[in-house]
Amino acid sequence: MSYLSGRQQSIPAMTSAVRLLLARRLIVKIGSALLVDAQTGEICGPWLESLIADIVRFFSRGQQVIIVTSGAVALGSSQFNSLGRSLRIEQKQTAAAIGQVRLMLAYEQSLKRHGFALGQMLLTNEDIEDDHRRFNAWSTVQELLKLGAVPVINENDTTATAETCIGDNDQLAARVAEMANADVLVLLSDVDGLFTEDPHDNPLARLVTEVRCITPKIEAMASHSHACHSSGGMVTKLMAARIAMDAGCGMVIARGTEPYPLAAIEHGAPSTSFVPQAKRKIYTRET
Ligand code: GLU
Repeated sequence: MSYLSGRQQSIPAMTSAVRLLLARRLIVKIGSALLVDAQTGEICGPWLESLIADIVRFFSRGQQVIIVTSGAVALGSSQFNSLGRSLRIEQKQTAAAIGQVRLMLAYEQSLKRHGFALGQMLLTNEDIEDDHRRFNAWSTVQELLKLGAVPVINENDTTATAETCIGDNDQLAARVAEMANADVLVLLSDVDGLFTEDPHDNPLARLVTEVRCITPKIEAMASHSHACHSSGGMVTKLMAARIAMDAGCGMVIARGTEPYPLAAIEHGAPSTSFVPQAKRKIYTRET
């Protein structure tokens, strides 16, 4: 099911698989729910291994991947005997400080097995809003990629305040996609994509396979969807889509709950593909 308007109907659709295969630079966003076992509070090791194997395959084809990952708060929450949901803000920040180290160690070990180094970057909204700081961040991303190191980005939860934080990594990933002039942003979720209604409530709900414009009708679908249990939910995913599409970057929402989630998209797994709207904005000089 695809939502088109006017002249757009004549433009052939690009599937999520093609979007991934043709991308020169991709941003892959991984949520806590996929990465951290809800029962044990530990990293889902085999799943992470499969994801990294997928990402390494992109690099071997000459494509660049930047990871935006959550998981710091969930991993550090065991210090408070909680999985993050009922912590006070300062406890969450403390959990993030502890969990971020565990998170990066897990990525580092996994990437190292394939001969890749990792570069950790912690960003805030202010870093992305400020031209000078955004330029420095982008320069670092480029140098890491030149060195064969994978940039792994999270929000700097310990310094971001409630008023200034981006707050969810869906939008952070979209801002990174905009900064990096990425071709596609992949949001791995616990559902197949955007549904017309919550598929748990209504078995007749249909997956929207392509979105070319975020209309009020599309927004209504997201607000009625309780199917996505990650912290951001479908509403923040649409906010991310708006940022990415406006920056000329396509976006894909797909299920990431099974191993090798990117390979699954390439092999045609169900997903929602968001079509880039505008000419990309060039924020920073490419070296
Ligand atoms: N930055 C948070 C963390 O690492 C996650 C925010 C989000 O999931 O959107 O735990």
